[in-house]
Amino acid sequence: MTRHYSALSLFKEGLNGQKGWQKAWRSPTLKPRYDIVIIGGGGHGLAAAYYLAKHHNIRDIAVIEKGWLGGGNTGRNTTVIRSNYFFPESAALYGMSLGMYEKLGRELNYNIMLSQRGLLSLAHSEAEMEMAARTVNAMQINGADAELFDREAVRKVLPIYNYADDARYPVFGGVWQGRAGTARHDAVAWGYARAADRLGVDIIQTCEVLDFVIEGGRCRGVRTARGEVRADRIGMAVAGHSSCLAQKAGFRLPITSYALQACVSEPVKPVLDTVVLSPGAGTYASQSDKGELVIGGGLDRVPSYGQRGNLPVLEHVISGLLEMFPSFRQLRLMRQWAGIVDVTPDSSPIIGESPLPNLFLDCGWGTGGFKAIPAGGFLLAHLLATGKHHDVSRPFDLDRFVRGRLIDEAAGSGIAH
Ligand code: FAD
Repeated sequence: MTRHYSALSLFKEGLNGQKGWQKAWRSPTLKPRYDIVIIGGGGHGLAAAYYLAKHHNIRDIAVIEKGWLGGGNTGRNTTVIRSNYFFPESAALYGMSLGMYEKLGRELNYNIMLSQRGLLSLAHSEAEMEMAARTVNAMQINGADAELFDREAVRKVLPIYNYADDARYPVFGGVWQGRAGTARHDAVAWGYARAADRLGVDIIQTCEVLDFVIEGGRCRGVRTARGEVRADRIGMAVAGHSSCLAQKAGFRLPITSYALQACVSEPVKPVLDTVVLSPGAGTYASQSDKGELVIGGGLDRVPSYGQRGNLPVLEHVISGLLEMFPSFRQLRLMRQWAGIVDVTPDSSPIIGESPLPNLFLDCGWGTGGFKAIPAGGFLLAHLLATGKHHDVSRPFDLDRFVRGRLIDEAAGSGIAH
């Protein structure tokens, strides 16, 4: 039975030494068979399980996670949500996700701390302004909200920027998306986990998937650290480790894996009430509700599974930020971390059936899959339930690399956010 906490019971818990809390989800024993097994307990895997149970009435599901929920990129990202992509296929995908995010807190009855504070992508030259205008036109044609800001409009939302005549990154204007913003990353994972658990989904943590059960040329299950599990269909949403598991399944993915870093400053009073991004400087930042500046940038330059990141990239990111906001020089950095992200040749995700029948993919999100968690999970659920693409996921099938129908969003996601 789910227990609901009233304001009074919360107060009593505080006085009683916090001993009466109910767990937000169960820790069930792994069964030898499920209708559906999902590998990866990040946002995408958990959301897929939730939508399978909710929309397709399939509840015999296990989400198998090698570490802890959200311990992959879902708990390591810089929490930016937006839909400012260029191509219609991406607009449909990320627009769907943004719309779902706007209702998610209520749907899951979980405060995901969605803050639609707007995102400003800066242009530092006439040439970048032309590109910004093109982006805004494309976004508006695709139905995404976008505005072209001139220098004065930027100044209104970013008063503390360095507008000096000799600034290294002068501002000409930028692309503004008012509905973009941030959400609490852990809360997204936890909210989906709790909701999926309540619908009967088994969430299995600290259980690595080691291999696949392949019979008659089809995927029939997985071999885990706790034994073999069979299933009718298997979903895979393992972010930075998609190639490793694909190799075990007997195929290769067009993916290169890189470390992507982020860091936070010590907390300060509110100074930045939007998400600001400079593709030119290779840096972006927002301010968390606690007051920390959450700072990110581009990929590490060398492909790697070293989940730490390298100092030169961090130095580049921070120096760019300090050129733009000299007052941040006084701040101390509190923490730095990295996640491993899987990048495809066109910087768009892969959603669809893998070359091994019965095994379905939701991967290749690179630097920008947090914003896509609701849509990615929804579309993977659709695939797992029906065996067929939803119209929105069809263009992102793996076969686009064979057909040459790439969706080249490198400009939209060439810098992490
Ligand atoms: P994950 O959350 O990584 O989940 C995959 C899970 O699979 C992991 O928990 C992992 O432990 C598990 N797993 C792996 N192998 C196995 C196995 N063999 N068996 C069982 N489990 C396994 N995106 C945005 O939209 N906005 C941002 O601001 C943003 N900033 C980012 C900043 C950084 C520093 C990083 C690293 C990423 C950022 N991203 C951002 C990208 C985003 O975080 C990811 O695209 C997204 O979280 C992917 O979600 P996921 O559920 O697919 O993967």
